[in-house]
Amino acid sequence: MTQPDPALTSAPAAPAPILPGATIGILGGGQLGRMLGFAARAMGYRIAVLDPDPECPAAGIADRVVPAPYDSVDGAVELARGCAVVTYELEHVDAALVDAVEAAGVPVRPGARALRMTQDRLAERRFVAGLGIPTAPWREVTDEAGLRAAAAELGTPLRLKVPIGGYDGRSQVRIADPGEISGALERLAGPLRAPGAPRALGASLLVERELDFEAELSVITARALDGSLASFPISRNVHDAGILVESVAPAPVDQAVAAAATELGARIAEALGVVGLVTAELFLLRDGTLAVNELAPRVHNSGHWTVEGARTSQFEQQVRAICGLPLGDPGPHGPTAMVNLLGAGEPREARLEGVEAALADPLVHLHVYDKRRVFERRKMGHVTVAGASNADEALARARAALAKLGWA
Ligand code: ADP
Ligand code: MG
Repeated sequence: MTQPDPALTSAPAAPAPILPGATIGILGGGQLGRMLGFAARAMGYRIAVLDPDPECPAAGIADRVVPAPYDSVDGAVELARGCAVVTYELEHVDAALVDAVEAAGVPVRPGARALRMTQDRLAERRFVAGLGIPTAPWREVTDEAGLRAAAAELGTPLRLKVPIGGYDGRSQVRIADPGEISGALERLAGPLRAPGAPRALGASLLVERELDFEAELSVITARALDGSLASFPISRNVHDAGILVESVAPAPVDQAVAAAATELGARIAEALGVVGLVTAELFLLRDGTLAVNELAPRVHNSGHWTVEGARTSQFEQQVRAICGLPLGDPGPHGPTAMVNLLGAGEPREARLEGVEAALADPLVHLHVYDKRRVFERRKMGHVTVAGASNADEALARARAALAKLGWA
């Protein structure tokens, strides 16, 4: 018998790519899972989704829905059955689910480590600090005395955040001045906690200085199975009370700032060892430097513009990466704007009005997430304008289309 050539056997063989016809499992069935599913389906993959709501936005595009909460290990194992790879569309899935899927022999991408590091704001801060990347000055606090001490050191205004389970500005409170410290913990523990989100494991909270930023930016970096990287153009984002309202890309910022943001994203993707996407939300400070606000190892609202505005959408890029395929070109077609369509008013059945008027502008694209109920500030869809002559025009046309839309 011939001996295997040690030069050929010393490195583990690269896993075979996952090809069309295979099933991709998605933990979470919200709009991100839905749009990821569209891209996967276009390439011939099948979709299985785990979500507590059998009528979740991704249900309409899934071959199979496992109705289970985000902390159901049994549900995750059932999801993984028949899947070639499992991904997640939100960080708020319990890490135990990811472990169970991997134990069942199904790879989870972007990966368990990335999930653990980014679902807990305190772990994330330590990770980012370990890379020598700036963030807002922060402290870990457990009680009011700790909060007072932190306020004395950091100054005010402050943001007090629950480490696990927050999104869209929920699970955090603003402390404008020292007079607001008393009662801040109670305000945070109350109705601001995200419904259905896992409760914080310990009593630890993150408190950080509110930064006076020039702009918010984000960078989405894809890392392939072979380690190659592809970065989307930087997006400039505007939030209102913690919810993303609009993005423009490529961000109208200095080339040096865009390059620094891209480099930051690449370092983070490599340090997390993701196979797939990681989004870094950034603050561009008045002195031109960048600080990391938050990381998300997944497709991101600030990347929705890529569907019409980039040669490869963030959703297709995620599919390519997690399936072990070469990455696509993330370059922009041109200036693109995306505005979020939020819910308004009392909770009720969702009936969208003004669609014809909004689409009267031929550069407008409308995305609706098929959520059955509308309520105040719920993310219901978005509008994208691509093909305008500059970012300002794209944004103005997207806003004008949005203004035509409303809820019956
Ligand atoms: P979420 O998980 O809800 O997105 P973030 O920590 O990203 O929570 O906060 C949401 C938004 O609130 C940010 O995009 C930003 O606009 C604002 N914000 C949060 N922390 C700070 C801060 N330290 N300084 C200034 N603005 C902040
Ligand atoms: Mg955020």
